Amino acid sequence: MLGEWVIVTSGRGDVQIQDDSTLCPFCPESKDASCEWQVLTLDNKFPSLDPRVGMIPLDENYVMEAPAYGFCKVIVLSPKHDEQIEVMDDKQIERVFEEYLTVFKELDSKRGIEYIYEFENRGESIGVSLNHPHAQVYALPFIPPRIKQELKQSQRMWEKEEECLICQILKNELKTLTSRIILETDHFVSFVPHFARLPYEVHIYPREHVGSLIEINDRLLELGKMVQDVVQRYSKIFDEVEYVMAFHTRPSVGNHPYWHFHIELYPPWRDRSRKKYLAGVETGVGVFTNDSCPEDIAKELREAI
Ligand SMILES: [Zn+2]
Ligand SMILES: [Zn+2]
Ligand SMILES: [Zn+2]
Repeated sequence: MLGEWVIVTSGRGDVQIQDDSTLCPFCPESKDASCEWQVLTLDNKFPSLDPRVGMIPLDENYVMEAPAYGFCKVIVLSPKHDEQIEVMDDKQIERVFEEYLTVFKELDSKRGIEYIYEFENRGESIGVSLNHPHAQVYALPFIPPRIKQELKQSQRMWEKEEECLICQILKNELKTLTSRIILETDHFVSFVPHFARLPYEVHIYPREHVGSLIEINDRLLELGKMVQDVVQRYSKIFDEVEYVMAFHTRPSVGNHPYWHFHIELYPPWRDRSRKKYLAGVETGVGVFTNDSCPEDIAKELREAI
């Protein structure tokens, strides 16, 4: 009905939430992670997508089912079980973001792959089954709908106004009087967009017009510290640090000069201890209602340090 793919993962129903009494599979003492490492990329043990099922070209004009072709990786962000990004030193942050780049480059050229989605889920209510710091990578055989929508909007502006949508948004944010900016560095800006769908949604944009991590390979530490800064602020405000962090990179197929790489963070909170639930309007018809004021949230985040 929507022209969108659904990944059916019924075989993964028995993934357990880890209780702290069992041995963590990402700690260096376990057999899965038993070599010397600082950041480690593994195949996901419960993959939603699998390269072994074989790739068939997807035709989105027809109603169809297809084998769930693709790759699912886990990036273990630290050998230390409780070293989340907010407590990492610069060296470890740099290693983590270099790994994001390495895994992206490795999967970007795989046959039949159209989009590399790197993301992090934090917190039990987000459904995280393991507390050990880790991120995930999905190499998808199609471009996901949210990205398609952003591509469409970016392309429209590029062709009509000869402007990049994100460069424009950034220009607007930098000159607006009631600031929604959280932090500015030499090459990046973090802020609460006026179009935020969730109260504490934060976007991080590079000032330069770049399509992927490849073009910012010498500024990965600065980008990582920008993410760390946002998460540290979240940790001051919320009872639990919970969020989804999404890298929005250019697709792996086609030429998209209008794409501007960025990171989006979505915490599930509406304030310190109450959750924002997606209810009738959001779930039923896809309209988000945000009952907070982006300028106030930006101010709260700026002061939370
Ligand atoms: Zn662990
Ligand atoms: Zn741009
Ligand atoms: Zn985006």
